[in-house]
Amino acid sequence: MNSTTGRPSESGIDLAFDRAHIWHPYTSMTDPLPVYPVSGADGVYIELADGRRLVDGMSSWWAAQHGYRHPELTAAAAAQLDKMAHVMFGGLTHAPAVDVCRRLLDLVPDNLECVFLADSGSVAVEVAVKTAVQYWAARGRPRSRFLTVGGGYHGDTFAAMSVCDPVNSMHSLYARFLPEQIFVPAPQTRFDGEWQSSDLAAFQTALAGRHEEIAAVILEPVIQGAGGMRIYHPEYLRGVRRLCDEYGVLLILDEIATGFGRTGKMFACEHAAVQPDIMCVGKALTGGMMTLSAMLCTRQVAEQIGGGRPGVLMHGPTFMGNPLACAVAAANLAILQRGEWRAQVAAVEAQLKRELGRLKTDGGFIGGNIRDVRVLGAVGVVETVRPVDMAAMQAFFVEAGVWIRPFGRLVYIMPPFIVRPAELTRLTAALAEAVQRPELFLP
Ligand SMILES: *Cc1c(COP(=O)(O)O)cnc(C)c1O
Repeated sequence: MNSTTGRPSESGIDLAFDRAHIWHPYTSMTDPLPVYPVSGADGVYIELADGRRLVDGMSSWWAAQHGYRHPELTAAAAAQLDKMAHVMFGGLTHAPAVDVCRRLLDLVPDNLECVFLADSGSVAVEVAVKTAVQYWAARGRPRSRFLTVGGGYHGDTFAAMSVCDPVNSMHSLYARFLPEQIFVPAPQTRFDGEWQSSDLAAFQTALAGRHEEIAAVILEPVIQGAGGMRIYHPEYLRGVRRLCDEYGVLLILDEIATGFGRTGKMFACEHAAVQPDIMCVGKALTGGMMTLSAMLCTRQVAEQIGGGRPGVLMHGPTFMGNPLACAVAAANLAILQRGEWRAQVAAVEAQLKRELGRLKTDGGFIGGNIRDVRVLGAVGVVETVRPVDMAAMQAFFVEAGVWIRPFGRLVYIMPPFIVRPAELTRLTAALAEAVQRPELFLP
């Protein structure tokens, strides 16, 4: 091996090695953006190796909803580690898996009864897609297309990517490899706007024309995350459910980002009082401690697959049902079941509306660079006219003592629910200042 080794910084983290050998998410090996060495994380703070403490505005990508080093989660991991970290799930089962699945079924829409444990959000989406395809195969009417909307994000594996926004996820790069799906424009009516039924027209047309080849519709309910942080009217989702029923097509809801309280409801589909046939969860399932996801479906879907050929759901990851992850997830769901999250998220939402609302003027926004401000639950988004200069803005935020990671034209926060008012004000103040500084944006 030919490795580049620099001198470890005071923190003991060799940044030259990192830069020369380790890929970070969506980055280049030849010209990587800077990374900040972290030595710890506690509560709502991320601790940099140089001793600075940053208020976390990202919950490590929607995951650490109760903050870092949560005593109950840490204790659950330690206790499970003492019994077993892992055993295979083929032919064996264990208390943490049963416990987490029971709690999960308590929380999700009550038509969902069957759980498949997977390792990451993208894999849960793969499993959901396979479930839908197998469902139709078992009915003797093979269908392999998926209908979705623009601006979506469902993960980075191929089936998941095929239903992501084609432009944002660079479908052109993988054109010959990616399955082709059916896209209609993203819903336009805002969450708090006046519902326009014309919003559903393209969706209805696509379903009416092609339902016989469509295995399922897949959507992120109410908030579209990494594909654009758009927040749409729940009536759209109600219309989608009605049309899926009318045309006999399955509905997959991807709650990987929105699930477990983030939008002010346990699951975002509750804003529309809609139940999916198949649901994916991940991210906050373990409170951000480790990777675990799940695909849930109705008994009817599971029985259809069971009654067909080969009669089994053809998926089985090596680390399926990992006891350590399940034990932490069960502890996390127990925290959620106590219900403090409702008041926490409501308080964060009210403060986000108040403080980010100051960027609005009569009929517009202050400065020339803000295109939109939107808030739902513990999610606050400022969309800008110009794209951010990542390195410059990241440095600005770290200087300001906060951890906010923008992308494209989106500067947004989704802090842990336990953030205190003064800490949240630090986040919103830094965000508000950043979006008004021209030097932090590309021309
Ligand atoms: C993050 C995300 C995924 C992918 O999850 P990974 O754990 O990153 O694979 C899928 N769907 C949605 C809505 C997400 O936000």
